[in-house]
Amino acid sequence: MAMPGLGRRGGIRPPRYSAAGLVSHGLTHRDWTPMWRRHELEPGYDVVIIGGGVHGLATAYYLAANHGISNVAVLDKGYIGGGGSGRNTAILRSNYLTPEGVRFYERSMDLYRGLAADLNFNVMFARRGHLTLAHNDGSLRTMRWRAEVNKLQGVDSEVIGPDEIKRLVPYMDVSAAARYPVLGALYHPPGGIIRHDAVVWGYARGADARGVHIHQDTEVTGIDVAHGKVTGVRTSRGPVSAPVVLNCTAGWSTLICDMAGVQVPVQTFPLQAAVTEPVRPFLDAVVVSGSLHVYVSQTDRGELVFGASVDPYPSYSMRGSLDFIEGLAGHVLELMPSLARLRLLRQWAGLCDMTPDFSPIMGPTPVDGFLVDIGWGTYGFKAGPVSGEAMAATIAAGKPPPLIAPFGLDRFAEGRLLGEKGAASVGH
Ligand SMILES: Cc1cc2nc3c(=O)[nH]c(=O)nc-3n(C[C@H](O)[C@H](O)[C@H](O)COP(=O)(O)OP(=O)(O)OC[C@H]3O[C@@H](n4cnc5c(N)ncnc54)[C@H](O)[C@@H]3O)c2cc1C
Repeated sequence: MAMPGLGRRGGIRPPRYSAAGLVSHGLTHRDWTPMWRRHELEPGYDVVIIGGGVHGLATAYYLAANHGISNVAVLDKGYIGGGGSGRNTAILRSNYLTPEGVRFYERSMDLYRGLAADLNFNVMFARRGHLTLAHNDGSLRTMRWRAEVNKLQGVDSEVIGPDEIKRLVPYMDVSAAARYPVLGALYHPPGGIIRHDAVVWGYARGADARGVHIHQDTEVTGIDVAHGKVTGVRTSRGPVSAPVVLNCTAGWSTLICDMAGVQVPVQTFPLQAAVTEPVRPFLDAVVVSGSLHVYVSQTDRGELVFGASVDPYPSYSMRGSLDFIEGLAGHVLELMPSLARLRLLRQWAGLCDMTPDFSPIMGPTPVDGFLVDIGWGTYGFKAGPVSGEAMAATIAAGKPPPLIAPFGLDRFAEGRLLGEKGAASVGH
């Protein structure tokens, strides 16, 4: 996988957003400059990225910003952010279980903390503190294990007891009379939430400004491979040649891999979420219960956002189901009985590509030039920045940087799995 001579394309300089600009637009009613432009589909690019979610767009942005490679196309069959990147519950954290995972997600948190300034776009990152509840001794043991691994990697994480939990989340039932009493929690103060659309749009704007072409409504229908090397893609708008093709399609990743003849150990499951009507702010922290299969946070607008673990069967369905809402509501009320009269506003679903070890698959494949950044399960939004940075570095250098080397596809054949289930099955 050699990537010599990848080229730069001229971009435009987007206007910088500022308070003065906001006032001036308000007074003059001038239109805002579109954040990204439409282009004709060119017959060839140096790099084609399939999937206009956070991973595809971040990779395009860092290719151009960090490596000067901007003859790049991002192709999406729908609209950017229409996949998991616009459907997730936007929880950010780095308190994983394996040292490889913790280091990787912590780099993403670093990038997220500086992202608004880097992109000149308010991504509304709110540091809230993240609590993973333990309702039994087994969970408490895993929390202690995670806390120690986290601390060794310099990540702020500790196990706290019910009194401290009550101080952080006064509405939570931490009494011994609860159906599933709370014994403790893994507390991760740097965890928080973000505005997912803003992240997607900010990366799209930054990539477009550096010359990347973003093509919406452009479905990849085939991948051309000759003599073990990728040569391009076929799309609903015609063929495009490219020596490098990157698969960033999350829930659809196996369909794209099949087109290149690459087998990956991934199954696709729906993941559902729901949001309530807005209420006055009362919940600062993000609260997760793995045992009850539920988590909750409150947005800046006051809505409560609820999520859970994936549906129990593989499917490509993106419809919400009644049994999900029923189970979710029951579990939320076990944690916070006083929410009984709150009304749900909306529920939705997205697709998650699950790997056997709950870790992603990143890097080269047996087809030269065909790379993957997939296997993001229910936890890939928080990894968008670091994945983009690392995949861009992989394309520029022709080999993955050490930070993502453990996540290669070859680990399954070599038996080097990176078991993250204890930190990733519900807590996203
Ligand atoms: C309900 C829910 C809650 C979640 N909560 C969290 C959370 O709190 N924190 C977290 O970190 N993660 C969370 N996730 C997971 C996260 O959303 C995903 O892992 C992440 O968004 C994946 O991003 P992506 O860019 O790889 O893929 P996506 O954003 O899914 O983008 C893939 C794109 O590929 C396009 N595509 C597919 N096939 C083709 C084709 N043939 N041709 C062209 N384009 C194609 C799709 O249109 C799509 O836009 C959640 C997911 C869901 C569904």
